[in-house]
Amino acid sequence: MDAASVIRAEGSMRKQHLIDPETCIRCNTCESRCPTHAITHNADNYVVDPVLCTFCMACNRPCPTGAIDNWVFVARFYTLAEQFGWRELPARVTDREPAAEALDEEAAAILDVAHRGMRGTARAPASASKPQINVFNRAAPACATVTGTVRVTAENASSDVRHIILDFGTIPFPYLEGQSVGVIPPGQEPDGQRHAMRLYSVASARDGERPNTNNMALTVKRIPLSPGQDGRMRGIASNWLCDLRQGDQLEVTGPYGATFLMPDDPDADLLMICTGTGVSPFRGFTHRRRRTAPNARGKLHLVFGARSPAELPYFGPLQNYQKSQLDCDLVYSRQKGRPKEYVQDRLRARAADVASLLRRETTHVYMCGLSGMEQGVDDALGAIGRDHGIDWPELRARMREAGRFHIETY
Ligand code: NAP
Repeated sequence: MDAASVIRAEGSMRKQHLIDPETCIRCNTCESRCPTHAITHNADNYVVDPVLCTFCMACNRPCPTGAIDNWVFVARFYTLAEQFGWRELPARVTDREPAAEALDEEAAAILDVAHRGMRGTARAPASASKPQINVFNRAAPACATVTGTVRVTAENASSDVRHIILDFGTIPFPYLEGQSVGVIPPGQEPDGQRHAMRLYSVASARDGERPNTNNMALTVKRIPLSPGQDGRMRGIASNWLCDLRQGDQLEVTGPYGATFLMPDDPDADLLMICTGTGVSPFRGFTHRRRRTAPNARGKLHLVFGARSPAELPYFGPLQNYQKSQLDCDLVYSRQKGRPKEYVQDRLRARAADVASLLRRETTHVYMCGLSGMEQGVDDALGAIGRDHGIDWPELRARMREAGRFHIETY
């Protein structure tokens, strides 16, 4: 039995495949590809029969808009009659309605910091799938089992960054690329207070590390244990996570975040700028695009900074991409024999390509990682704009408004 069948058979929540009537262009591609004839239509909508759908994904790749790609967990299946009547997908598609106190203020506060500067104007891309948030909370977390943990920086690197795979078994944990999850380290602070929640971006595509698996990966850097300025110890969560072994269990909350999401539109170009473990959401974006639209017109351009190749998480796997799949600029600040280079320096070095991306209405800019890079990147984009006849401050405001400019930094 595959993971999806297990979820359907055992969980009180069941997985259902839906088509987003807002982005569907009624091209009939999905219906013509469905081997079980689960997809049908009337004059208004294309819909999926939950009884006939086997989650085989044959419809997924050919869909030109991504409207096909909505997988939700429900206590009762939406009927065909209900789906025929929709103008948009239902706002909330789980019966795990969080209790009022469960709207995690703790997580919201962390994300608020990460999105500062965007506050009040952060928007999701127009074609992004609708995220679910706060499905699990401190009072009712999801229990995950570690099914893999592997170091993704070189053995001789000073930073220990680990790729940790969490499996949710039969508990549906719905997430989208770019969302975060919360973990709470066991134990207490010396003053008896509970440990604070830590947020990590999901590093996987929404359907798991392999298609149709109910798991996710996190990218975690071990921070040396040391007292922080607020008197609390730093590094507690990262050391605990990095020390977890296969088979260990932990509680996970979330998912969180409703704006740092990728567009479903395969024509969208993504300029992804990151440092260190900030690469995490972009791994999810890249896997997602490759899985669902490998021949998409939209380009993926990653500008990724680390101290050296040894310190760069996922250095090996990143070598395997062809430029057509992922235009990958790896930038090093402390590589022997080479001048220090930051991501903003590389943006300037590739000014013509960056300017051509910025000119396209299909381009989305994402920044994730150290907050220190924000100003440098903004300055670089401003300078590139000036040299290429683009009013960057005006464009940045317009992109924000349209959900095409996204920052998540700590
Ligand atoms: P890091 O190793 O400390 O730094 C990565 C690179 O960024 C280094 O080459 C560093 O250069 C460079 N850098 C430092 N200051 C910079 C600046 N002002 N402009 C541009 N580049 C600069 O990174 P890290 O420890 O992995 O930290 C990544 C950040 O991402 C953390 O703050 C983390 O909280 C955040 N984050 C993590 C996740 C996740 O899910 N794991 C998700 C989102 C964000 P030098 O050291 O040589 O100066």
